[in-house]
Amino acid sequence: SESGNTYYRVVLIGEHGVGKSTLASIFAGVPDTLDSDLLGGRFYLHSLLLIYSTTLTIILYGRQGQDNMIQDHCMQVGDAYLIVYSITDRASFEKASELRIQLRRARQTEDIPIILVGNKSDLVRCREVSISEGRACAVVFDCKFIETSAAVQHNVKELFEGIVRQVRLRRDSK
Ligand code: GDP
Repeated sequence: SESGNTYYRVVLIGEHGVGKSTLASIFAGVPDTLDSDLLGGRFYLHSLLLIYSTTLTIILYGRQGQDNMIQDHCMQVGDAYLIVYSITDRASFEKASELRIQLRRARQTEDIPIILVGNKSDLVRCREVSISEGRACAVVFDCKFIETSAAVQHNVKELFEGIVRQVRLRRDSK
């Protein structure tokens, strides 16, 4: 971006209810999502975060409705993407594949850092998507994979560190 290498826009996409807001809130250290009036109030913008002396903006998509304009916008603005599904919800896993295809279409020529995130790993008895399915999917997606639990805060820090590391690696190699 204009400000050099210190401004990263990480976009979380995924089906409603998979835990995007919860993940972002933990990382941001803020309890509430800022419900902005942007784009008709269906655009959720999290506060600016300081990590590694880096400013990271988190934008959440898919919290309500499936507005095409918002979706197109989100597919354009990210420096990096977290495609989130819930391990307890197979439909959300299938949605992740759809989103990966849309992202590829929107940003064809770019090498964008992406992590496939299987959230709610604490809900072991409700699991509908195995770890190996998640891993295999990430191979197809050509991206990294991690399972997280926002509820017990497992792998959340690792997730955000991972995405920032990937953005940096790509920028440093240019
Ligand atoms: P979003 O629509 O993707 O932003 O999903 P939310 O962050 O609003 O989460 C949806 C629901 O799932 C909320 O009730 C959360 O408390 C719950 N939730 C989110 N992450 C986890 C998790 O890792 N484990 C469990 N057990 N519940 C979670």
